Amino acid sequence: MAKITIAIDGYSSTGKSTVAKQLADWLEYVYVDTGAMYRAIALFALRKGFISEVSFASDILVEELSKITLEFKKNSDGKAEIYLNDENIEKQIRSMEVSEFVSPVATISEVRKKLVEQQQKMGEGKGVVMDGRDIGTVVFPSAELKIFMTASSKTRAMRRFTELQQRGDMVTFEEVFKNVEERDHIDTTREDSPLRKALDAIEIDNSEMNIEDQFHTILQLAKDRIARRI
Ligand code: C5P
Repeated sequence: MAKITIAIDGYSSTGKSTVAKQLADWLEYVYVDTGAMYRAIALFALRKGFISEVSFASDILVEELSKITLEFKKNSDGKAEIYLNDENIEKQIRSMEVSEFVSPVATISEVRKKLVEQQQKMGEGKGVVMDGRDIGTVVFPSAELKIFMTASSKTRAMRRFTELQQRGDMVTFEEVFKNVEERDHIDTTREDSPLRKALDAIEIDNSEMNIEDQFHTILQLAKDRIARRI
């Protein structure tokens, strides 16, 4: 069967990764969480003290980019986890602290260039579901299926808040809501590759949709695109 490229973009916490993983499992495609890659660079910058509440030494981060190697490796349940210079950082990158600093880090063109190149290599052979902010517009502008996911910011913040609570993180709903809105603002207004719906993307507002319905809607779209390529 012909393989296609599926690009899933959208605002923070719209459930992109949930549906992307479901699709990749069903279609036996590779799943790439590009947000994890930007989060890994933000974690690196935080650990090195290049970014804090008061300053961002983006020039030093850029100089150090060549020292960063990112890889996805499958764990024992077959789930892909991200490694920064051979260290598994899957849990650390989901913290509130990394969420606070990731969007400023993702505005840096050199960071984007490095990650986009790696993402394009990972999706070279098609048969990939990639989620992020610029997949349908920059990474794979000729992807056969592009989805743009939205939901109200309250709904998204509540989903993220529940996720963080389940991990045992001490955060308030207000903090999470503020972070979701701030990231949306930075992601949509940055100069390099701002979050935009590609002209040929299909918009899905999942505020009132359950995970199952959303999966079947997108799977049907993917099956239609695959059938057209056979
Ligand atoms: O998807 P996730 O919420 O984990 O992404 C974290 C952040 O990484 C986003 O808010 C955005 O600033 C950045 N990002 C990006 N381009 C991508 C994926 C993520 O700028 N393709």
